[in-house]
Amino acid sequence: MGRRRFVQFSMTAAAGAASAAFVGRVTMRAIETLNMDSGADRDWVMVIDLNRCDGCGDCVQACQQLHNVPEGQEWIKIYEMVDKEGNTYSFPRPCMQCDNPPCVFVCPVGATYARSDGVVLIDQNICIGCRYCMAACPYAARYFNWSGRPELTPSEQAVYSPENPVLHRRGMVEKCMFCVHRTPDGRLPECVATCPKGAMYFGDRREDAVTNAAGETLLLSSLLREGAFRWKEELGTEPRVYYIPRRESA
Ligand code: SF4
Repeated sequence: MGRRRFVQFSMTAAAGAASAAFVGRVTMRAIETLNMDSGADRDWVMVIDLNRCDGCGDCVQACQQLHNVPEGQEWIKIYEMVDKEGNTYSFPRPCMQCDNPPCVFVCPVGATYARSDGVVLIDQNICIGCRYCMAACPYAARYFNWSGRPELTPSEQAVYSPENPVLHRRGMVEKCMFCVHRTPDGRLPECVATCPKGAMYFGDRREDAVTNAAGETLLLSSLLREGAFRWKEELGTEPRVYYIPRRESA
């Protein structure tokens, strides 16, 4: 699949698209949202090449600027890992958008939910700040807003949606959402679009293809055959983020 094809996708309504098995485990509010979401016919995944990431942090900064992320939060965070030989390497961690998301299952009010394209969102108008979801997430991908800042103007707040989480209210939980406010326009998530090394890819699992900011396209099935892995896969969370292992440790 070429980049042209990737950017030409269109979103359609998702009524009835959510699986019955999944809907059975979420609240009424989540069901309503699933029926309204625009993620139908998509199956978003991200791939991160650990051979290319040098930990520059451009993705973190770009994310923080685009989303006006409150101080102290890193919706994509770069961990420094150590391999068996004692060598360090960089390991970026966005929200994994788990297919089996413990954060969703523990939310007592249905404020967090998964769309039919797999992206896990938070509705700030419903969240009560109990932080059960933070405790349940095995990737530490969620953040509590202690300050309520940065404050936004009423017009900025008016465009809020769970897909475009510009609200930063004190007492709410926030996190990465694969920039699904811009995927309908055929745009990559900001971290992927700004990675200077082309280490990050994004795409549709149903099309078996992911692409990076340079327009390089990889077949997901080939990556999986060659050893791409998901972090903490043994937990059964079914993350949507795949990593291409470092050649030294492959
Ligand atoms: Fe939820 Fe954490 Fe999985 Fe993201 S990484 S979907 S916050 S459990």
